[in-house]
Amino acid sequence: MTLAICIVCGAEKFGAFVPCGECGFEPTELADKAKSLALSDHHSPPAELDKFSRALKDGVGVPFEPISLAVIARPIAEENYYWEHLDDSTGMLRCMQCGVEFRPGTDAVRCPLCRAGSEEPLSICLKCSLIFDSEAKYCQKCGAALRVSSNVTVRGLAEDIGIGVGRTLENTDVLAKSNFVAGVRSRLSKEESYASHRELMVLGMYCTGLVLSKAVPSSALGLRITQEIVALYRASHTLRGADAKAADSICDHCLRRFDEYTLAVGRDPDKWEMWLGNEAAKNCFGIEGHIGAAMDMMIWIGHVTKVLQGGVIEAIMRRERIAT
Ligand SMILES: [Zn+2]
Ligand SMILES: [Zn+2]
Ligand SMILES: [Zn+2]
Repeated sequence: MTLAICIVCGAEKFGAFVPCGECGFEPTELADKAKSLALSDHHSPPAELDKFSRALKDGVGVPFEPISLAVIARPIAEENYYWEHLDDSTGMLRCMQCGVEFRPGTDAVRCPLCRAGSEEPLSICLKCSLIFDSEAKYCQKCGAALRVSSNVTVRGLAEDIGIGVGRTLENTDVLAKSNFVAGVRSRLSKEESYASHRELMVLGMYCTGLVLSKAVPSSALGLRITQEIVALYRASHTLRGADAKAADSICDHCLRRFDEYTLAVGRDPDKWEMWLGNEAAKNCFGIEGHIGAAMDMMIWIGHVTKVLQGGVIEAIMRRERIAT
């Protein structure tokens, strides 16, 4: 039996998707189902559930982290897709990712090629903490035989890293202690503050590229992981009500920013962090050519990349070392 909390009134119930005995609310929309699963013992320990329940009863609300929610919603969205799109007469289905027609197994929604690209186990070097393509046999750095790990896939990495970025943004406010940006931020209007937070999320995703460029020697593989992270980011907006066109333009904006940051980094190999910090201060807070603001952003970028390296990449390596 799943212990869950009603996402509207905070009452306890058994089963995430059943109607609430107190207020009668029944999650039927994808976003509500994902939130209901997030507030169940599948995803939160009992102490956390208690905290959420009290917050909802007090009318404070629960801050759902968008990327985590998109990850939780994924299997539900895929199941919906399967039943909505399966052609009963031919037994064929259009791949949810690339649109190609294929004959699905029990509940596959993506064609074998798409699945191979994102779900095939990757090879890892535990000594160097490096991740390689599935076919790689030996570490490019130390020459050791690689370990193929069924737990490490493009999809899994993208989920771990995406959630890592989202949590870092929600939980740690490095900028609160910053010398210059903190003051500027306190004067932002509600809309500006929202836009600024969105830019920070995009910057956080760009930071994942910096982490991946160290942990994943193949740039093609790194790119595939980044694309999956952007797909999750897109899904997080769809979940919050963005239609396909709006979600596309949000992704376009994100990729344009990645290009701008890459350009800034390429300006000067010695001072690339400063240039990136400057570009980040411009996009996130509208401050350009201010050394203090650029430094604040450099510290933020350094923090996010450190957390991702330690909390995601090293965590995977630790887990795999224990498993050997
Ligand atoms: Zn309720
Ligand atoms: Zn496909
Ligand atoms: Zn190695």
